[in-house]
Amino acid sequence: MSNRNSNNKVLLIYTGGTIGMVQDENGALQPFAMERIYDALPLLHRTNYHIDSCQLDKIIDSSNMTPEFWVDIATIIERNYDNYDGFVVLHGTDTMAYTASALSFMFKNLTKPIVLTGSQLPLGMLRSDGRENIICALEIASAQHVLIPEVTIFFESHLYRGNRSTKVSAENFDAFSSFNYPSLAKAGIKISYRRNLFLPLPNGKLRVRKKFDPRIAVLKLFPGITPAVVNSIVSIPDLQGLIIETFGSGNAPTEPWFINELQHALEKGIIILNVTQCKAGAVQMRQYQASCDMDRIGVIGGHDITIEAAVTKMMYLLGNFPSDKEKVRDRLAKCLRGEISLEINDELDDF
Ligand code: ASP
Repeated sequence: MSNRNSNNKVLLIYTGGTIGMVQDENGALQPFAMERIYDALPLLHRTNYHIDSCQLDKIIDSSNMTPEFWVDIATIIERNYDNYDGFVVLHGTDTMAYTASALSFMFKNLTKPIVLTGSQLPLGMLRSDGRENIICALEIASAQHVLIPEVTIFFESHLYRGNRSTKVSAENFDAFSSFNYPSLAKAGIKISYRRNLFLPLPNGKLRVRKKFDPRIAVLKLFPGITPAVVNSIVSIPDLQGLIIETFGSGNAPTEPWFINELQHALEKGIIILNVTQCKAGAVQMRQYQASCDMDRIGVIGGHDITIEAAVTKMMYLLGNFPSDKEKVRDRLAKCLRGEISLEINDELDDF
């Protein structure tokens, strides 16, 4: 490969997912151990950058992903941070966008690439998309002529900002999309980087925060939603945060019972974030009357955040600032790691 430097070192971290799966006797896909990745892809031994590999203690189908696994992945990267030029995380596609978002919030002042990738077909299969995905992800993570100081997802020729990505297909090879931010690079004959889209290289010291508070809920609105459904969610004991997936540019029923339920939840200290169900575009509170009441009572507008980034950002902020709800509210409305289309709040050092 061109532009390689034999001194460049990448750590390949296997967490599970289709990319490393085999079929059991009933034909169901199950994860297998890391050494099999080298069997399936002997080319990995021939790259002229150095690859070390490791795997989580427990490799999983990413449907079993939890904040504890995010912490495990972050801990491996943190412990090895000074010894490698970049990191590639092999991950199941189902929740890859959540993990990429979670890692993006955990790593403040990141100066090295963390690239997540996976595949739709197991690496051992002839038509697997995993080979190209892994090789491109490794090339990007080890590149010497370009440095992407971000958590990203590489999938089917595109490199996306992790906290802008969403899984959009359960069958196509181009399984991911980033509707509200362009891709950072495109792999053709060569990999073309769009440097003007990267996050700026930070000056501060790397800081890794590993706390998450999972006591949140997501309420997806639909026409005909009943008071019983909304009430049962806002009555969850100990609920700290609620994301409402609203219509269009952040609209919801204007019925008094609905606003009263939300107001009651806010009075109990539950933080509420308004995220649109639309894949592209942003919440604009007060654009329609159907969001004015929510704005008035203190529901926070999520701008153009993905649901994956909203869930992980809320868990992250609640976990790290448990006694400062005002700070959580304030930071939810701000851009921390390029996850929403507002200027990044770099001067705020405490998140
Ligand atoms: N269920 C798998 C997972 O997310 C699917 C995949 O890897 O594509 O772990």
